Amino acid sequence: MGDIFKGTFIHTPQLGQLEIFSAQIKVINGVITEIIDKIPCTDHKGGFYIPGFVDAHIHAPQTRNLSLGLDKPLLQWLDSTTFPTESKFTGDDYLFYKQVVKQLVKNGTTTACYFGTIQNEANLALVQAIKDLGQRAFVGKVCMDSNSPQYYIESTDNSVASTLDFITNDIFKSTNLVKPIITPRFAISCTKELLKGLGKIAYKHDLPIQTHISENPDEVSFVKKLFPDSKDYLDVYDQASLINQRTLLAHAIYLSEDELQRIKASGCTLVHCPNSNFSLNSGIARTRDWLECGIKVALGTDVSGGSSLSMLNAIQTAILASKSINLLKDQNYKPLTPIEAFSLATLGGGTAIGNRNVGKFEVGMAFDALFVEYENPFQSFTQVEDSFYGFLYNGDDRHIKNVIINGRNIHFD
Ligand SMILES: [Zn+2]
Repeated sequence: MGDIFKGTFIHTPQLGQLEIFSAQIKVINGVITEIIDKIPCTDHKGGFYIPGFVDAHIHAPQTRNLSLGLDKPLLQWLDSTTFPTESKFTGDDYLFYKQVVKQLVKNGTTTACYFGTIQNEANLALVQAIKDLGQRAFVGKVCMDSNSPQYYIESTDNSVASTLDFITNDIFKSTNLVKPIITPRFAISCTKELLKGLGKIAYKHDLPIQTHISENPDEVSFVKKLFPDSKDYLDVYDQASLINQRTLLAHAIYLSEDELQRIKASGCTLVHCPNSNFSLNSGIARTRDWLECGIKVALGTDVSGGSSLSMLNAIQTAILASKSINLLKDQNYKPLTPIEAFSLATLGGGTAIGNRNVGKFEVGMAFDALFVEYENPFQSFTQVEDSFYGFLYNGDDRHIKNVIINGRNIHFD
């Protein structure tokens, strides 16, 4: 019974701790039930398995404006580029979404936390595309009832009602891999009433939550004006019961020390989106401080504030972002190591929400994996670790030979 995956495995059982071993991994119903003949290994034998990547923050519809408008800062970019794109999505976009999900899976994203749009028909088309391709995902119907263009806004009541419609849709009943996630866009585009309504739904239906926080200085000061009764940005969400151990907060660049301490206490996860933070000139997040504070951290592409849908790019830019702080601001700041960045892209996201057991190869975890073959084009490797670093820094989808989600090989045709 079950399947056996045999070969070299590379993962981080703990954050930043690399383990390489050869073994036979037995998988039944998508879950690792046994690891047989496990021995440490160093030799390069042509290929290795790593845990699949977890993109903890991506906007599926924005792939339509990938790389466009990135000369503008966040709030202008939303108005000029993103809102016009998102507003046009309909239930007919299934094939578009299927291409998006396929590209993500080909690039090694075995789990994605998606923002959709405000239109449920389009969001259901996205869910169907994910189900048909066999990806693991959380999908959010985006909610926005204020400070949004006339052509792309909903009333508070409609936003709450269509969130309820979305999360209770039968489409989620026939899958364990795709789940809904409560998704207020960000504080600027949501009234206090809407945020509170969404907090109640998340609690009642025991659902995870995703949103943005403290991404850009203009955004932060606008939020301050909009919510004078809140002591800071985090408090806006906290007052609406949206902050708990199943919450994903993207960006978090300008949080105060006090906010970081409260985030740590709440158990919610900060999602670092370095490509986006550079592309929209938002700022550089201090991920080392988050880790030292004991906060849970995941990585996201934030397409299309981020210009690449590859989590390898997220790993590379996370390392560069932390080096920029060291170079430009603070010589005592310790940059992320490649192993730590890899950890955030696998284990960090895999354990973020609390009900997902992916991101490392251990008994009881779901088996989501990539089989990678990477050769230095100029000189043969003798150590598998060297091939692994080559892939992290210089790899792409051509080196990902197999994608396995929940123990099943994903086929693209
Ligand atoms: Zn985003």
